[in-house]
Amino acid sequence: MFDALAERLEDAWKKIRGQDKISQSNITEALKEVRRALLEADVNLQVVKSFISEVEKAALGAEVISGVNPGQQFIKIVYDELVKVMGESNVPLALADKAPTVILMAGLQGAGKTTATAKLALYLRKEKRSCLMVATDVYRPAAINQLITLGQQINIPVFELGTEANPVEIAQKGVEKAKELNIDTVIIDTAGRLQIDESMMAELAQIKQKVKPDDTLLVVDAMTGQEAANLTRTFHEQIGITGAILSKLDGDTRGGAALSVRQISGQPIKFVGVGEKVEALQPFYPDRMASRILN
Ligand code: GDP
Repeated sequence: MFDALAERLEDAWKKIRGQDKISQSNITEALKEVRRALLEADVNLQVVKSFISEVEKAALGAEVISGVNPGQQFIKIVYDELVKVMGESNVPLALADKAPTVILMAGLQGAGKTTATAKLALYLRKEKRSCLMVATDVYRPAAINQLITLGQQINIPVFELGTEANPVEIAQKGVEKAKELNIDTVIIDTAGRLQIDESMMAELAQIKQKVKPDDTLLVVDAMTGQEAANLTRTFHEQIGITGAILSKLDGDTRGGAALSVRQISGQPIKFVGVGEKVEALQPFYPDRMASRILN
């Protein structure tokens, strides 16, 4: 396991081998290699720094287990720390005691929000839940049409009021509609901009305040790499997210954004998007992501 990292750590190991404790002097090189590996995996620099200091704390003073390759022992410490930082286990969606559960989707345009809305609806239906998807992106008629098309494709209803209505009102009416139809989960797709802007955040905050979602999920494109950290920070500070979906993990990325999102927000990644198809959604597992980041 983790052959690439093991290989690059080889020189560093030579210093640890033959010593009975991992110490500051024999670990410096190894930590540098881990730092490099994490940066290559697109983990944000600040996040890498704080992670490395946690690994250092965990590793220092650890007895070198006799008969075990100290390199492998060190990798295990890094891996365990990664899993720990990413939350140890999968965190499911927050479901309301009293229907309907409301899930608010947030994120930049192109992050995969609308696709994730449909993916989540389909996923929940497989769990025997009924869903209503709500289209509030009144600024882009194409976005509303995209959700309608996806809804038809998976046979899940979409609530929309065209492009003239107010997004906050659409969201509220969507929740009312779900109550009326006895639908147990409402997923609200919201407008995204190419860049974060104040009016976008204000509108999201207002929707959140009015519909009081059980879960507010930030959809982050895994391919955005280092930027995922700033994005997460801004959304979390301004609207308060309770989880995230990491999209486009089928792309050519080691997934370092996962570590950044979790570290910066303290909120769990709940799902990953692994393709353009509506079925391409999987629960997030910290151990699998740790392996991917280190490989
Ligand atoms: P939105 O603007 O945030 O609503 O983004 P969209 O849902 O429209 O997605 C933007 C593009 O990314 C579309 O072409 C999607 O098909 C694509 N996309 C979304 N999620 C994934 C994913 O997990 N993997 C891949 N490869 N493409 C995705």
